[in-house]
Amino acid sequence: MELRDLSDHVEYRAGRGIEEVARELGRDPSDFVKLSSNENPHGPSPKAAVAIREAATEVHRYPKAVHADLTAALAEQWGVTDEQVWLANGGDGALDYLARATLDPDDEVLVPTPGFTYYGMSARFHHGRVSEYAVEEGGDGFEMTPEAVLDAYDGERVVYLTSPHNPTGARFTLDEVETVADETDEDTLVVVDEAYGEFADAPSAVSLLDERDDVAVLRTFSKAYGLAGTRLGYAVVPGSWGDAYARVQTPFAASVVACEAGLAALGDDEHVAKTTESVEWGREYIHDELDARTYESHGNFVLANVGDAASVTEAAKRDGVLIRDCTSFGLPEHVRVTVGTRAETDRAVDTLNEVLGE
Ligand SMILES: *Cc1c(COP(=O)(O)O)cnc(C)c1O
Repeated sequence: MELRDLSDHVEYRAGRGIEEVARELGRDPSDFVKLSSNENPHGPSPKAAVAIREAATEVHRYPKAVHADLTAALAEQWGVTDEQVWLANGGDGALDYLARATLDPDDEVLVPTPGFTYYGMSARFHHGRVSEYAVEEGGDGFEMTPEAVLDAYDGERVVYLTSPHNPTGARFTLDEVETVADETDEDTLVVVDEAYGEFADAPSAVSLLDERDDVAVLRTFSKAYGLAGTRLGYAVVPGSWGDAYARVQTPFAASVVACEAGLAALGDDEHVAKTTESVEWGREYIHDELDARTYESHGNFVLANVGDAASVTEAAKRDGVLIRDCTSFGLPEHVRVTVGTRAETDRAVDTLNEVLGE
């Protein structure tokens, strides 16, 4: 048999883990710090770690009650109904559900470039087509503006806004999100990806759902909550969508372990506060101390122009610091450095400054 034509599909290449790199270089994993995947350097919420251990004896059951409990807790947090919270296997899973619920074959979506690869992948899986709007470097850094989105907009079914944006760290204000939603067709959904929302000192676009049925918001437990490995995320969708979730979800997409961890993490304000405080410190530190052009960031990472991203990333790796070469984002001069613990961030900055000085 033949597969469908996958030639337009791109492979998702995740940042390589410490174990993998250490093995390749014949070194000890403890020699490395990993600041390449925007993970939480403080680990998971300790309360979530306990909940995961306790969930171990329940994993022979399908997740039913706990899925409902987490949905209800999130609905309460955001002031929406349970039907508006679409739990999924990571934020990526929630993107799939949104694509399933919106795209007919050959519908187009509009994605940022540079940007998060999975928007386009998910659309293609669902037989959609992908066009792009530019997030371009101007005098003040990378500019995300409604004008850039609307100039490129040509009636696409879904428009993705990443705010804060990966990998530049830029963001849209709520007014700007609203402008895009106002100026696009009634039948265009604006997906606001707030995977880094906890790190931005700005209100969530969820508040727009009180009045609108053309905006959906993506959130995840992978970043601020430190639960990337459990794969837990969700979309908050308009109230008028009714029971659509039941029609598009993969049965039991969020596991018992993930849901228990998520519930516990939601109740762990201390861990989130520690995480966001250290991110605020680290962003400033990298801006101040790194000998390269950096950009204002509202996420848990900082983009830097280092001239030759591939060789700087490689040299830093040999010195034990894993960062993200942004060549695959279409930014061959830029690297993205996740804010680590103080010690990790210090080491990354020292190492990069040495590499850049050579
Ligand atoms: C990390 C990330 C996500 C979601 O990741 P999951 O681990 O699937 O929840 C979504 N969008 C952007 C831009 C991200 O960086």
